[in-house]
Formats: sequence, structure tokens, C-alpha cells
Amino acid sequence: METIRFDELELYPQILRGIQEMGFEEATPIQSQAIPVVMSGVDVIGQAQTGTGKTAAFGIPVLQKVDPSNKKTQTLILSPTRELAIQVADELRKLSKYMHGIKVLPVYGGQDITKQIRSLKGGAQIIIGTPGRIMDHLRRRTIRCDYVNMIVLDEADEMLNMGFREDIETILEYIPTERQTVLFSATMPKPILEITRKYQHDAVTIKVVKKELTVPSIDQYYYDVKRRDKVDVLTRLLDYYDPKLSLVFCNTKRMVDELAQELKGRGYFAEGLHGDMKQSQRDRVMKSFRSGKTDILIATDVAARGIDVDDVEAVFNYDIPQDDEYYVHRIGRTGRAGRTGRAFTFVKGKEVYKLKDIQRYCKTKILAQPIPSSDDVAQIKAEKVMERISAIIEEEDLREMVDLIEKQINESDYTAMDIAAAFLMQALGADGEAEEKSSYDFDNTGAEEGMVRLFVNIGKKQNVKPGDVLGAIAGESGMPGRLVGAIDMFDKYTFVEVPREYGKEVLDAMKNAKIKGKSVNVEPANQK
Ligand code: ADP
Ligand code: MG
Repeated sequence: METIRFDELELYPQILRGIQEMGFEEATPIQSQAIPVVMSGVDVIGQAQTGTGKTAAFGIPVLQKVDPSNKKTQTLILSPTRELAIQVADELRKLSKYMHGIKVLPVYGGQDITKQIRSLKGGAQIIIGTPGRIMDHLRRRTIRCDYVNMIVLDEADEMLNMGFREDIETILEYIPTERQTVLFSATMPKPILEITRKYQHDAVTIKVVKKELTVPSIDQYYYDVKRRDKVDVLTRLLDYYDPKLSLVFCNTKRMVDELAQELKGRGYFAEGLHGDMKQSQRDRVMKSFRSGKTDILIATDVAARGIDVDDVEAVFNYDIPQDDEYYVHRIGRTGRAGRTGRAFTFVKGKEVYKLKDIQRYCKTKILAQPIPSSDDVAQIKAEKVMERISAIIEEEDLREMVDLIEKQINESDYTAMDIAAAFLMQALGADGEAEEKSSYDFDNTGAEEGMVRLFVNIGKKQNVKPGDVLGAIAGESGMPGRLVGAIDMFDKYTFVEVPREYGKEVLDAMKNAKIKGKSVNVEPANQK
């Protein structure tokens, strides 16, 4: 799999900047092969599966070719559906973000044509549209093609499946023959080849061929996860399987950075690795991962290429790989040297089809899995603790400990079972919440039973009424106002009681709050 960096492609720096900002680490195989050829100006037939980045494969050369000083239409891109036309337009807009004077316009059926005509009058050098609607505009002469020097048939197989063949041929007849005709498709059924023969000249065929690959025999699962739930599912799986080392793959550098931030924020020992990092930074991250100090490494395919670590017990495809081959490379990082390995792939919606491709290509099975519930996580954690405990009981001399426990049992009302259960809770970290809550001292605030008394440094002298305090507390914390207990207001301060279970919430919520426009300090009261 030969791939290249975008900066090897002699692109305008503005385009490179756009690519950089999209977070692409490296050109995908079809991009690596097709971009130079399309840029050379010849007709091209490009074939690669869905999700391999065909849009940029033609989009980058389109932008490279377009003349921003000429406002006339120069490129037509035909796309099978409204959704795809919009997607392609979005991708081109992102790629051309730093180019000046380029207008990209999607047109499709179902959209009010007079509105479209108005947008077209504004002038757009690049028009992306469904064949029917483009033809309509060509007939109305609301799209003129005197200056069109490039036409792209994107997702050609889909367009034919949808019965657009005649429309496509009609459109091709409209375009000046001195043009570059480029066609991209996931598959190449016969009718496509007929079109290419009729309308292209000396076309160069670029096909990303796949070699047979063997997949290591590791357990492979997939989860149907919405984008916004991905982090939660990932952390759930990390907690559940507790892999020694995990490798998480993302498709962009940006996603790597975002996810690394997010996981660190949640207290995981995670680091990102991608091509924008200095060599010294990468070395530091890799060293930390090898030693196990960082147990989660988040990387792009490119950055992970050099990684050779044996103890990786889990690979996560946080983004589904853009190439079947990547899948094999990715999951090949686990299950080495006879160790257990698991691979987890997150897919959403239509990505399940890509998964089918991967399975067919890799001759492997990727099984659907339900996402573990938080109870499952607690249970498996408990099992792990118990395993360690069994080992201790087997191997250690526990006599002194037994004496201590016995003493505790004799002096208190606790049973051995109570004590064991409390230790388990502590080992699971399930007592964390209780600990955090008690970081405020609620025991001596002089409040009524079940309440805490809070001190607020604002009072009558500042023109504040009890209702203001009550309103601020209820408003900021979301606790119902009726739960607020006694309010004692003095000249310069106020005591207010809230239910103990809301104490922490109220204190946290009031940290940045204002009462009557004044910042206040709220803390547990000291009993006089
Ligand atoms: P195709 O047309 O082959 O089905 P797309 O062009 O729609 O694939 O690309 C699929 C996704 O991959 C898009 O989200 C796109 O932004 C992203 N993508 C394209 N090229 C790259 C790249 N070099 N690195 C990372 N992501 C890429
Ligand atoms: Mg596409």
C-alpha cells in the first residue's frame, strides 16, 4: 500500500492549509494514486471502495485547476443524490477554505428552482448537482458551460443504479469537447465502461487493488454507536475489559487530539500520537506507552505504523478504517505472541456496510455486541478484585490480618461480611462519590437533622431579601426552591439551610453565582 503525504503533491499552499485543517494525516491510497494523474489533466477512471476518500481524490485537483479570477462555471460534478451533492460541496468548501474567490454550489431536485437560479446568477465556478437538475438548468441556460473544462461523474455506479444514464449522456453532450472527464466509482459495471468508452479519451484507469490478507485470529466485535456516544462507549469498554494496553485508532489528527483530551479529562492515562507532533514528543509518548505508564494510545494509521508493542490487548477502531487493509494493519497490533487480543469497531448507521466489505475482504467475522451496562462493568471489576483476593488468600500469611479483623468484629456490631463488603467497595472505587461529598464538612453546620446550614456572605445591608437567596440557590443548582429550609438573614451575611443530599450540588453551583449582581461566597456554616 503506497501512500504519500499531501505536501509531496505540489499543491497550492492554500489547499494544503485546508487539508491540514481537516486533520488529514496522509493521502489515502486512491488519493495518492489519483491526485497526480487527475492533476496532469488527462481523463481518469478511478475505482476504490466507499469511504476511501474519493471526493478529495478529484476535489483537490478540481480546486487546483479552477481559475478564481474567472467567475464562470468551470467544473461540473455529477452526484447521485441530494445528500451526496451536499457532502461533496461541504468537502470542497473545507478544502478551499483558504482560497480566495472560489464559489462552490450544490444544486439538486426538490430545492426551489427560482432560488437556485438566483444563487447561480451570483456565479459559481464549481457546481455539484444531481443529473436531473443539472440537465434542467442546462436547458434553461441558467447553467452555461462555455467555460466548463472539467466534468466529474462521482459515484458513477450509484448514478446508473438510479437510472440517470440518459441524463448523464445528455449532459456530456452539452459540455465542450475540450474538457477533462473524470469518473469515480466504487464498482465498475459494464454500462459505466460503455460511457467511459464513448465520452472519455485515452482515459487512465486507477484502481486501488486489494491483496488478500490474513487476519490474526483474535476476537472482533462491533458496536453500533452514535457519534456523540462514542466516548462513553469507549470508556465503558475500557473499564469492562480493562486491557493492559489499548490502541485507539482515529481517522484524523484532530480526532486524535480531541479524544486524548477527553480521555485525560476523564482520568484515563491516555496520549495521542500523530504526524504533527515533534519527534521528541512522539518518543516521549511511545516510551510512556511501552512502559505502561500510558495505557491508552490514540493514533492515526500513519502514526501507528512504526509501533511495535507486544502487550496491546485491545484495539479500538474509534473511526471505521478508510481502507480494508488498514483494518488488518490496525487489529494486527493486538493478540501478538500468543497473547489474548480483542478488536472493537465503532460504526454508525450506514457504516455497517463498510464493515460487511471488510469482513468479505478479510474473510473474517466481526460480531455485533451489546454495549456493556454499568452493572456489567461493576460486576466484572468485582470479579477481578476477587481473583486477586483469592490469590492473596492462597499465597500470603494472613494471620496478623485475621487478628485485626477479629478485634474489629468483637468491638463493633459489624459482621465479617460487612467488613469484606466495605473493603470490596473501597477496592472498586465505588466509595469515591461518598469521599468527594465529604470533602465539604457537613457534620457541624448546626443545621436541622438531614439539612446543612450554608453561610452566604451577603445580607440585608446589600439590599438582599430572603427570596433573592432562595431564587439564586434554586436557579443555579436546579434544586426545587421549596426544599430550601430556614433562611436567617443578618446585615452582612445570611444562613440558609438545604437538604444534605443537595449540599454539594448547591455549593458547586454557587461557586460562580451572583446574587443581585454581586458575586458571593457560599460555604458550609460553622456551628457556633
Ligand atoms: P468515498 O467517496 O470514497 O466513499 P469520501 O470522499 O466520502 O469517500 O471520504 C470518506 C471520509 O473520509 C470523509 O469524511 C472524508 O473527509 C475523509 N477523508 C478523506 N480523505 C482523508 C484522508 N486523507 N485522511 C483522513 N480522512 C479522509
Ligand atoms: Mg464518494
